[in-house]
Amino acid sequence: MGSSPAGPIAGYCANHGIAGTGVGVAHRGGTGRAGTGVPVWMAVVTGRTRDGHCLQLARTVAAHYDGENGLHDDHDRAHEIFQSSTMTALLDAVYDGGLTYGELADHGDFGVGTFNELDGEMVAVDGRFFQLRSDGTATPVTADERTPFAAVTFFRGDTHRRLDGPMDLDEIEALLDGLVPSTNLFYAVRIDGRFSSVVTRTVARQHRPYRPLVEVTRTQVETTFADLSGTVVGFRCPDYAQGVTVAGYHLHFIDDSRTRGGHVLGFTLDGGRLAVDQDADLHVEVPDTPDFPAADLAGRDVAAEIEATEHQRR
Ligand SMILES: [Zn+2]
Repeated sequence: MGSSPAGPIAGYCANHGIAGTGVGVAHRGGTGRAGTGVPVWMAVVTGRTRDGHCLQLARTVAAHYDGENGLHDDHDRAHEIFQSSTMTALLDAVYDGGLTYGELADHGDFGVGTFNELDGEMVAVDGRFFQLRSDGTATPVTADERTPFAAVTFFRGDTHRRLDGPMDLDEIEALLDGLVPSTNLFYAVRIDGRFSSVVTRTVARQHRPYRPLVEVTRTQVETTFADLSGTVVGFRCPDYAQGVTVAGYHLHFIDDSRTRGGHVLGFTLDGGRLAVDQDADLHVEVPDTPDFPAADLAGRDVAAEIEATEHQRR
């Protein structure tokens, strides 16, 4: 990956007449130039695209952006939320997966998830992955740790809003629902701001035989953080995706010092910035461990269980 030129990455800019394959946007290291000498890389990093100037081309390039290697030419990897396993499997106590965080990081620099044995909440922001445990600690995730459920994307942020609070979670969800072009599509959501309170939960490490998630979250540790700055990271998914993922909002929080946080149950935002990233596809990777094929994934009230495990306070 990352070779140049790469046809599948070609974008289109009416302003500069750049179109078709063979546009040289796949350079490693940020010196890519399109056919007419437009510095494509600069168009992305300086944000000189708000008037639609090279916007489509810049979006295409941004979707293929890879923090470590510059640009990649894997079309499947761009424009998608990559998810390991399904929420329904997590409800049925499939708490061990085969995917490592090293592998997951190839698919995104931003997202949410958990760890094998349900050992805490994961939040990924700006390419840094953190493990938030029920004892309140937050530690960087090592590449060999594994996940039974995680969703990541390469976050670009194509819509931005200033948020003047106080606003609670319900108000922000309503604002977002009105902001997105369609609730039938997938979005990544990021809020950086100052919060007067954030209520989170963190699941605790489990031991076999595993209990279903509704039983585990009945005794979840809930924490209220007061007067702090931080980042909310997550996704908005359509109703029809319920069970495959979490329909509606699934948000995790980490504070600015990147030492505290959890799965968001509620908050009051004093003020901040909202960024929304529209993702074209949800890519689900089914675990290759023995637990997933053996799990009972039919016949349960998925919507009620997800409401109880992901949104309700104890
Ligand atoms: Zn969560």
